Amino acid sequence: MPELPEIASRAKEIKQLLVGKKIQDVEILQPKCLNIPPEELRVHLINSTILDSTYRGKWIQIRITSGWLLINLGMGGEILLTDRTHLPEKYRLIFDFSDGSCLTINFWWFGYVHFSSTEGILQHQMTSKLGRNVLDLSEEEFKIALSGKKGRVKAFLLDQSNVAGIGNAYIHDILFLARLHPNRIIQTLEENEIARLYQGIRQGLIPSLEKGGAFYEKDLHGVKGGFTMEDILIGYREGTPCPVCQTPIQKIKTGSTSSFVCPTCQPEL
Ligand SMILES: [Zn+2]
Repeated sequence: MPELPEIASRAKEIKQLLVGKKIQDVEILQPKCLNIPPEELRVHLINSTILDSTYRGKWIQIRITSGWLLINLGMGGEILLTDRTHLPEKYRLIFDFSDGSCLTINFWWFGYVHFSSTEGILQHQMTSKLGRNVLDLSEEEFKIALSGKKGRVKAFLLDQSNVAGIGNAYIHDILFLARLHPNRIIQTLEENEIARLYQGIRQGLIPSLEKGGAFYEKDLHGVKGGFTMEDILIGYREGTPCPVCQTPIQKIKTGSTSSFVCPTCQPEL
């Protein structure tokens, strides 16, 4: 599932490659992923020009002259910049540009392509409830986001209304880098542990962001992300020695999800 490093990378590529392109046509093979009828979407998009691209949590937000195009890849998918003579095998939507290139979108499972008017983005149901992008927070702002929160640290980080962008792939290394057990109760965190958690988030996400995201997602040219299994410290590495203390990594059940932990570096208090 794409998380902040992949979504931020796609948003950046869209900005680099698509700004200035004018949408000439839109082909929609899966109307269920839209928030408005296909014909209405076409009216909004055709003759609109791409102005900018950013992201919020797991959503790519493309600013166009008529408003916003919002894309959520769900469990994963591909956004490819190509042309009509080199279409990929699978796609759910095609945006044709006036220069002859086109953008195809495919979802492995299910995703969303929403339109919002320029001002309407503040009321867009699925993005307006999201917390801020986790990498945009200062340490002080992160502390404020944590303050007064009940529950466990892993659940807090995965709840996109608290902070946006962390999912089930990066969470294991983030908590390992912070030397915190996923089940730690937020209210028991000491100042220095909060500081470690803040740094763990950055150290857990930025290296992948710098490599264009994880290997299981592709960029707009169809090239896999440069962050590979070898870059992952303990996530999905059950039984292998902890890179710090050599204790075998354990896979444990935490609520409804699994977690990978080093029982020595991340003791459950
Ligand atoms: Zn360890």
